[in-house]
Amino acid sequence: MIISVLTIMPDLFDSFLQAPVIARAVRNGVLRVEIIDIRDYAPGSFRHIDDSPFGGGAGMVMRCQPVLDALRACKKRNHTDSSEGRRDISAKSDARTVILSPAGTPYSQKKAHAFSETDHLILICGHYEGMDARIYPHADELVSIGDYVLTGGELAAQVIIDSVARLLPGSLRDASTQEESFENGLLEYPQYTQPAVYEGEAVPEVLRSGDHEKIRRWRLQQSLLLTRKMRPDLFAAHELTGEEQALLAEAQQ
Ligand code: SAM
Repeated sequence: MIISVLTIMPDLFDSFLQAPVIARAVRNGVLRVEIIDIRDYAPGSFRHIDDSPFGGGAGMVMRCQPVLDALRACKKRNHTDSSEGRRDISAKSDARTVILSPAGTPYSQKKAHAFSETDHLILICGHYEGMDARIYPHADELVSIGDYVLTGGELAAQVIIDSVARLLPGSLRDASTQEESFENGLLEYPQYTQPAVYEGEAVPEVLRSGDHEKIRRWRLQQSLLLTRKMRPDLFAAHELTGEEQALLAEAQQ
C-alpha cells in the first residue's frame, strides 16, 4: 500500500521512517510512504501557506490552495503512475483521504485494520489553528487520535502509519498481531520473560508447565480480568462466550 502524508513539517518524519517495523515493511515492498511538503504547492517566494482567520481571533489558518493543490497532485501522481496505467481521477479517486483533526472520529484498532486494507491512504496534517473549513469536504473522513490537542497532525499521522504498518504482511519479524490488545475486543494478557523469579516475584507456574491448553485458558482468563478492571467500557461491549463465562466464574471462586 501507499501512504502519502501532506505536511508543512516534512522533517518530522525523517527518523520516524527509520523505525524497524516501518523500514521492514518498506524493504519488503508492502508499504511505500511518501512525505509531501505542502509548501511546495504554495506560490511565491514566501510560500505562503497560512493566513489570519476571517472574523478575527488568535492564530493562523492553513489556506485552501496549497493543501488542495498538494492533494490533487498526490492523487494524480499515484493514480497515473500505477502499472495498470492511467485511471480516472475523480475528486476523491480510489485513495482514502483522511484529515487529522481533534474533531474526527476516534481512532481504533478496527480503523487501523480498515486502513491497512486500502491501496492508498492520504493523511493530511493540520497546523496552527487548523485548516480552512473548505478543505474538509475534500476528505473521506476526519480522524482524531484522542481527546487532547496536539500542535500539529504529524504525531497523529505517525500513530496511524505505525499501527497500520504492523498489520501489513511482512512488517513484523515474528509473531502475529492476532493476540494483541483489541484484536478480540479484549486487552492482552500479562507477559513474562526471564528470570523465572525476580526480586522474590515468581512467574505464574502455569506459564512454565508446558501445557499449551492450560496456558491458553489462563491467558484468556487474565485478558478478561484485566479488561474488566482497566477498560469496563470494552468489557461491557464484549459478548462473553460460554468458555469465557466459565473462566470468570472460576476466577471468583
Ligand atoms: N484549533 C483546533 C481546535 O481547537 O480543534 C486545534 C488545531 S491543532 C493546534 C493543529 C492541528 O493538529 C490540527 O489541525 C490537527 O491536524 C492536529 N491535531 C491536533 N490534535 C489532534 C488530535 N487529537 N487528533 C488528530 N489530529 C490532531
